[in-house]
Amino acid sequence: MTSNERLPVAVIGAGPVGLAAAARLIERGIEPLILERGTSVGASLLEWGHVRVFSPWKYNIDDAARKLLDANGWAVPLPHHLPTGREIVEDYLLPLSHVPAIARGLRLGASVTAVARSGVDKVSSIGRDQRPFVVRYSNGDGEQDVVVRAVVDASGTWGQPNPMGANGLPVRGERSSDRVSYGIPDVAGRRRADFIGKRTLVVGSGHSAINVALALMELQESDPRTEIFWALRHHGVERLLGGGLNDQLPERGALGLAAKRAIVDGHLKMLTSFAAQGLTIEDGRVSIEAQTGGKPLRLDVDQIVVVTGFRPDFTFLRELRIEVNPAVEAPPALAPLIDPNLHSCGTVPPHGVEELFHPEKDFFIVGSKSYGRAPTFLMKTGYEQVRSVVAEIAGDHASARRVELVLPETGVCRVDVGSAPSGGCCGGPAPAPVDACCAADAVAKSAGKSGCGCGDLPTGGPERVSEGF
Ligand SMILES: Cc1cc2nc3c(=O)[nH]c(=O)nc-3n(C[C@H](O)[C@H](O)[C@H](O)COP(=O)(O)OP(=O)(O)OC[C@H]3O[C@@H](n4cnc5c(N)ncnc54)[C@H](O)[C@@H]3O)c2cc1C
Repeated sequence: MTSNERLPVAVIGAGPVGLAAAARLIERGIEPLILERGTSVGASLLEWGHVRVFSPWKYNIDDAARKLLDANGWAVPLPHHLPTGREIVEDYLLPLSHVPAIARGLRLGASVTAVARSGVDKVSSIGRDQRPFVVRYSNGDGEQDVVVRAVVDASGTWGQPNPMGANGLPVRGERSSDRVSYGIPDVAGRRRADFIGKRTLVVGSGHSAINVALALMELQESDPRTEIFWALRHHGVERLLGGGLNDQLPERGALGLAAKRAIVDGHLKMLTSFAAQGLTIEDGRVSIEAQTGGKPLRLDVDQIVVVTGFRPDFTFLRELRIEVNPAVEAPPALAPLIDPNLHSCGTVPPHGVEELFHPEKDFFIVGSKSYGRAPTFLMKTGYEQVRSVVAEIAGDHASARRVELVLPETGVCRVDVGSAPSGGCCGGPAPAPVDACCAADAVAKSAGKSGCGCGDLPTGGPERVSEGF
């Protein structure tokens, strides 16, 4: 064992993927040091604890974590049940955090503020790869530095919601308004009083936006004065509501179908090709200045919920040599598989260390943060990522490069062939002799399924779906 190998591996974030990384490290006899900003494991999930996920338990539990839990006596959740965010924390992540091998390395209330190579700055190359890392975090006792052999950043993107502006910037007045909520607020529960009987604008086009809109409809049933405007930045709803019956996660398909019905019934008022420009508060209401389909619009509402996706925070990685795709902000080898400009398959091919490398040896971004600004990350994808990454850290390069996962398909998949550099859809081009539109389509067809769905849908056009969850 080298002196570095005696050091722990830092895992930033105790969400489902960070804790899975810790379980994998323990499986390989490596000590994890898990630094979590929140006061509980699964701190981000608790913020959307009221939302029922659409992947059942069987997809939400990591294999290495399950082994640790089984060995420590655990009431296994029903495999087909769809848990809420809170249930994932209470029935899975919390019991996992109490497993002694995890508990020993877990630091709650520890917010990582910087990571660097020990003793050298970003510019210095000589001997760099052999040096350990310094991770700086702050907790109730002030700033702390720890020295570790590798760093797995599983800090998610929940803390960095995208703003309302179609250009990626907050619109005028957005940041100073207390009527704008981000993420997926509990409109039918904890924040019911803010929304019942009120006019609300929901901005965004992912599954979370549908979730918020449908929760507002519950309020509409109790109080018909509740009005819901749903704004999409693109021009059509068909693709958004897509997958439906073809979705292998039926609850995800059902969300789209329910939203479709609500639009037809007039419960949801759609605003497409929506671009907000500014907000002002007038007579106790928020007045929004916007364009829809190029025409000016002024809309007065009581609340705005912005559900336009998330973006990663790289500020604490400033001293590391990281490399991300300039558009998607995912590692360069992963980006083409998930870039919403090229395709919108929720069906992303499983991947591991090869797609997650950064120039900084022994540093990896995993979990939802690894997707950068791209949507449709699944926990199961993250579990395969950390299996592979931890194998690499442990020196088991063969296992690191083996892919051991099949993911459920979404049933929606669009390829913009015109802008894809080399058939950059789901996993790249299909092997030459196979009648398939992309690698994922070929895999699906070889498994006797109808394919990934790319070929059935129109290509091209300005529509872009990049606002997952
Ligand atoms: C509403 C919603 C529904 C979803 N539904 C599904 C679903 O049905 N199925 C599915 O597979 N996936 C779903 N996802 C996507 C994804 O699987 C989850 O977001 C999942 O929580 C991602 O796990 P993670 O561990 O990568 O990140 P997170 O769960 O976000 O965990 C990151 C952790 O890092 C901590 N952290 C952040 N910054 C720091 C720092 N600087 N220092 C220390 N700690 C830090 C945070 O407090 C947090 O605890 C959903 C996501 C959302 C938002």
